[in-house]
Formats: sequence, C-alpha cells, structure tokens
Amino acid sequence: MSRIYNFSAGPAMLPEDVLKQAASELLDWRGSGMSVMEMSHRGKEFVSIAETAEADLREIMNIPNNYKVLFLQGGATSQFAMAPMNLLRGKNTADYINTGQWSKKAIVEAKRYCNVNVVATSEASKFSTIPPVSEWKLNPEAAYLHYTPNETIGGVEFHFIPEAGNVPLVVDMSSTILSRPVEVSKFGVIYAGAQKNIGPAGLTIVIIREDLIGEAIPETPLMFTYKTHAESGSMYNTPPTYAWYISGLVFEWIKKKGGLQAMAEINKRKADKLYAAIDGSNFYKNPVDPACRSWMNVPFTLAIPELDSKFLDEAKKAGLVALKGHRSVGGMRASIYNAMPEEGVDKLISFMQEFEKKKS
Ligand SMILES: *Cc1c(COP(=O)(O)O)cnc(C)c1O
Repeated sequence: MSRIYNFSAGPAMLPEDVLKQAASELLDWRGSGMSVMEMSHRGKEFVSIAETAEADLREIMNIPNNYKVLFLQGGATSQFAMAPMNLLRGKNTADYINTGQWSKKAIVEAKRYCNVNVVATSEASKFSTIPPVSEWKLNPEAAYLHYTPNETIGGVEFHFIPEAGNVPLVVDMSSTILSRPVEVSKFGVIYAGAQKNIGPAGLTIVIIREDLIGEAIPETPLMFTYKTHAESGSMYNTPPTYAWYISGLVFEWIKKKGGLQAMAEINKRKADKLYAAIDGSNFYKNPVDPACRSWMNVPFTLAIPELDSKFLDEAKKAGLVALKGHRSVGGMRASIYNAMPEEGVDKLISFMQEFEKKKS
C-alpha cells in the first residue's frame, strides 16, 4: 500500500496516524466488541468519545467556559442560514465583508433574513486582496459582522482579527480552523465544516458565546436553532458519530504534535516555501496580494495554460494529486492543511521546478 500526497481542498488528507488508529479500532473499539459506527450515541462508550473530543478541542483552542461547542451536521453552508436565523436578535441588519466565493454565498443566504450591509468587497480586484480597513463601512448597530477568515477558493486569508466594537464577529473558519492559535474570546461565533482541517465530512463545529444563544427568529426549525443543540449536548437527534470520533482522534494527534503553536510553525514554513518557489520562478504565478496570502490554500497559474493538463497528469504520476484549481478560477490550487506533511510540499516544489525546466 502506498499513500499519495493529496492536495484536495476538501474532503482533504487526514493524518496517517489517525487513519491507522481508526483502522485498528474499526471492528472492536477498545474492547467494546463494536465499531464506533455501531454504537448508540447515548451509550456510555460513545458519550465518553464525545466528551473527550470536546475537552481536547477546548484545550487545543483554549476555548473559554462561556462558549458552547456544538457538533452539528449540514456543513458550513447550513451555517450561512443558521447565523442570521439565530443571531439577528430583533435587529434587521447585519454586516458582511465580501472577500470571495464563500463570503458571497453567505451573503446570498443572509439576504433572505435581513438587510445585508456589505462593509467592503474585493470583487473588483477578482478577490485577490482584502479591502483596506480604512475603507470599511461598519454599522455599529449591526446584529453581527460576518467574514471568512480564509477564502478556500481564492486563497485569501485574514492575518488579523477585525475590530468591530460591541458588534459580535461571526466567522466561517472552515478552511483555517486549527491551523494556528486564535483568541476565541474575540469572536461571537466560529463555525467550520470538518472536512478541511478537522476530520471527515458530515460534521460541522460551532463555537458560540453563550449570551448569543436563545433569540432565534420564532419560525426557526428546532434543528436550525443553536439553543436546541446547546441544551442537548449536540444530541437532540443522532449526531454524526463516526465523524465526531475521527475528529477526536485528530484533536489528540494535534495535542501530541505540540498543539496549535506547533501547527502554526509548520504551516507557515510550508506556505512560505511554496510561495517562495512560485515567486522565484518565471513560470508560476500566484495572483494574491502578499499581505493576505493563505497558509492553507495556494492557487497558482502556469505561464502556458495549455500545459495545465500535462502538469496535472505528470504530477499524478509523481504521487501528487488533486492540484486542479477550482472550476471558477482555473489554474492550480495546492491545499496544504495540517495533515499535509512538509515532505509533501517539498515534493511538490521539486516537481514544479523540474516541470518548469522541461517545459519552458
Ligand atoms: C468548504 C467550505 C464551505 C462549504 O462547506 P460545506 O461543509 O460543504 O457546506 C464553506 N465555507 C468555506 C470557507 C469552505 O472552505
């Protein structure tokens, strides 16, 4: 068996140690005689798995006690609706920063529930930057300020936390959560689909300050109400048990590796060397403003786009897969989340340099 380096944006690579442990426990979880997939979510075995996962995530992210951690389904996309449904709290307007495709989708959904004030947009520059803070038109009466700390498709990342006074920050952290330490207390709500940097698809994590829970629009379905899940320990209905378990193994793996500080150091090194290779060549190009380049998703184009498919074919033969850029932007994209080993990035860089030598 040989594992390849998978640069997919999501579902993405998982740490090999985690997959091996899951394999060894697949038929019989720690003497229980069952697979985690076969367990009642209310049985003592799964409850211990769930509680350990939450405790480990709280420890890794240093989540304050006045925040609830919810383990939900529906993906980040469901949060585009759950955020306005739950967080307007009697107000009728919310602030959104538009930095790319995921911000846009969040805005489209929010418009169904409230007036959306687009504080700033980088659409005119094809989402290659974050508009300067001095030009933002924040509304101090907004119910919340929503933004996307890392735009997975465009490869644009906020390397700072915006200041919005008393307006709670609500963020779609799907593709950057766990990539580095963050000060959770600066946020009202952090949400993330698991399949980028947490675990398998099917799990969505929501970290929410307690005082923001409980004022959903009255018609909100119970399943779409944060209060429902907060009051039931995310077990109002059957949660995505296996994805929760695997995510728990990933949290343990992060702890063993030295936590988010250690992740940040490796991630920064991986990203820095890939951008340096791109910038140092006359053949590859990254279109993003260097001040807001993503550590996690690195889009790049070839000087001769006709060579795109050859690049992808040869990369695949070299064990480097899923480098094709998103259909909306073309070119290439290397997603290099926590689970992508540094050797995978090194191998990609060598491959790119050799390809350039042969083809240009
Ligand atoms: C992948 C992604 C989404 C969509 O997530 P789903 O879990 O498929 O709903 C939303 N936002 C960002 C930033 C993403 O990377």
